Amino acid sequence: MAEKKGKLYVVSGPSGAGKGTVVAELRRRRPFALSISCTTREPRPGEQDGRDYFFLSEEEFARRQQEGGFLETAGIFGHHYGTPREQVLDRLESGQDVLLEIDVEGARQIRENYPDAELIFLMPPSDEVLAGRLRGRGTETEEQVRERLARSREEMAQAPNFAHTVVNDDLDQTVSTIEALMDDGKEETHAASGNH
Ligand code: 5GP
Repeated sequence: MAEKKGKLYVVSGPSGAGKGTVVAELRRRRPFALSISCTTREPRPGEQDGRDYFFLSEEEFARRQQEGGFLETAGIFGHHYGTPREQVLDRLESGQDVLLEIDVEGARQIRENYPDAELIFLMPPSDEVLAGRLRGRGTETEEQVRERLARSREEMAQAPNFAHTVVNDDLDQTVSTIEALMDDGKEETHAASGNH
């Protein structure tokens, strides 16, 4: 077992807050393991199984869920999403930091079950930017975009339940702020474990 366990980070927030872009930039700047989720939705053009998601059938997802294979799960727009338990816990145990990019419902479950996790809520700067991002992706129909916007507004009401809220106005600034939060979180953990 590694001397120091890794730290668990969660970047959450509404669909369209820019989680994917922020996490990609964060990965360019520092090392951490990014958890690859399982989902029952169809791959989008360009998405690869095992890289972007593990794409599972409903039956396979249900089987793994029943076996306790997920750290958290959420139902989003008629599909299931889940974080593979072993993948994450093994890495933490071996001393690697792990980041989950998940929705607000999943983040709530992590907060309840893993109180040491550092939870970051990414907030879009405005309704207009949020709508623009959802439309600009060009992968959803207008009806799907409207559905996502409605859900995003509900999710934004959950921001006060997160330890940290970062408004994603400027990518560079947002990522720097998250980096600072990650460094603070690590210092606290090490200070705490030093007292034992
Ligand atoms: P998309 O289908 O656009 O890739 O993702 C839809 C939403 O699901 C996003 O908000 C994304 O962060 C979230 N998501 C992706 N993987 C997981 C997961 O494993 N668990 C939870 N709770 N949400 C996830």
